Amino acid sequence: MRAHVRDVQDFPQPGVVFKDITPLLATPAAFGAVLDALAATARRLGATVVAGIEARGFLLAAPVADRIGAGIVPIRKQGKLPGPTVTESYTLEYGTAVLEMHADAVGAGDRVLIIDDVLATGGTAAAAANLVRHSGAEVLGLAVLMELTFLAGRSQIPSLEVTTLLAI
Ligand code: IMP
Repeated sequence: MRAHVRDVQDFPQPGVVFKDITPLLATPAAFGAVLDALAATARRLGATVVAGIEARGFLLAAPVADRIGAGIVPIRKQGKLPGPTVTESYTLEYGTAVLEMHADAVGAGDRVLIIDDVLATGGTAAAAANLVRHSGAEVLGLAVLMELTFLAGRSQIPSLEVTTLLAI
């Protein structure tokens, strides 16, 4: 799996080594294995809804939702969703960002697994979990393709069960 993730130096800014998963997405056997593993996690946890985080999270969350017969809910950057939303701000290295979800997307009784491509500092995942919780649904955990362990993202989401396919 690691062989299909490419390191890109100085992207999106100098000093950052970006983990590019596009080679993995373009390799059917590797992509299929990732989806199988994420779907197994979603089944084990009993997810009824899969929430994907924009944008690469969508590429993983949608096929996983389809495999387990669950709904997919998009968690998006500010200003992209057409209906009434709930919002959550979170801190980036420089400044803040906002995530949104449709206010009626999930509610009491829904069991939600959040999926993204990469867990880095954990701010994005923490904000996504807050959105789901504030809507009254249960957050079962976070499943990611890759975790950048040196950034200690799990410390931002101590109450979440985290499943990682690739720890770097
Ligand atoms: P965090 O909020 O610092 O944990 O950043 C996680 C978010 O940033 C995820 O939505 C990722 O898609 C994105 N991200 C951070 N670093 C990388 C990377 O090296 N490769 C791909 N996505 C990344």
